[in-house]
Amino acid sequence: SRILVTGGAGFIGSHLVDRLIERGEEVLVIDDLSSGKTENLERWFGEKKFKFIKADLSEPGKWIDELKGIEAVFHFAANPEVRVSTTNPEVHYRANVQATFNVLEASRANGAEIFIYASSSTVYGEARVIPTPEDYEPKEPISIYGASKLMGEVLVSTYSRIYGVKSAMLRFANVVGKRSNHGVIFDFIAKLKRDPERLEILGDGKQRKSYIYIDDAIEATLKVMEHMESSQEMSEAFNVGSLDAIGVDDIAYIIEEEMGLGKVEHVFKSATHDGRGWIGDVKVMQLDVSKIMGKTNWKPKMNSREAVRKATKDLLERMEL
Ligand code: NAD
Repeated sequence: SRILVTGGAGFIGSHLVDRLIERGEEVLVIDDLSSGKTENLERWFGEKKFKFIKADLSEPGKWIDELKGIEAVFHFAANPEVRVSTTNPEVHYRANVQATFNVLEASRANGAEIFIYASSSTVYGEARVIPTPEDYEPKEPISIYGASKLMGEVLVSTYSRIYGVKSAMLRFANVVGKRSNHGVIFDFIAKLKRDPERLEILGDGKQRKSYIYIDDAIEATLKVMEHMESSQEMSEAFNVGSLDAIGVDDIAYIIEEEMGLGKVEHVFKSATHDGRGWIGDVKVMQLDVSKIMGKTNWKPKMNSREAVRKATKDLLERMEL
């Protein structure tokens, strides 16, 4: 079938494109290349079943006509940088809310049947229940990024209710692995390459979060798509994460070990009086993934520690810093 992947030149999106094309699907990618790279899709250029369009989804444009005959939409385009959202909230409003609205409208106009939205654990804000289940309330994000992802979810589920497009919201924990170009592992490696004796860790060191390896996240995405094809539900949210969490200092130890470093001094630097690494940093995050495991036969293959170690190896292979 014909599938649209927005943000398909990005980290998660490009892995999804790989799997969809390998399965024989016809894939259209729309991406403005603001953080994505065409190198991530290199192997597909020239293939009949693949088409790439460079366009900014926050502006309606000629890209809308390209959606003719699209059956399923994976909306993965977004600005994923929580820190940027604090200093420049309008960027997140445009890339995450306005673009989601435009993609929904374009999907409706072209009769798409399935809409899968990449949401985030940040919609829960500082949940008092850990691991946090999908129906946890109140959802009170503590970053503009989280707010923008939650706004996207509300638009998506309301479109389902009114216009009948089936939707799923995937609330991802921290996804790590090959082609990732942001986040804690990337930051720590870059810093340790500059100074192998001293590592500045943002926050008070008490952060504990859940990490999922990219292959597990993509597998979950595909399992949810299969589930939707037979499910009666019009719109469902699923947490996608590993079964545990890991402390930020343990992440540092894993990376130092993989880089073959000796003793490294850890220096903590908080951005807020309550020890956050940056404004909007959720200190403790772990998702309850029993819903997706019960409704599909998906199960994460790696825990947080294994995901971080594998992602570190992946990045070390590639980073020339
Ligand atoms: P990414 O930055 O690698 O990918 C996002 C892609 O969207 C990029 O290729 C970028 O160029 C594109 N894009 C951004 N704004 C656009 C616009 N206005 N028009 C067209 N394209 C645009 O980030 P990622 O980590 O792959 O994230 C993918 C999705 O998953 C995002 O929706 C993000 O919010 C969500 N998510 C990611 C994580 C994670 O840990 N990586 C966790 C939770 C949710």
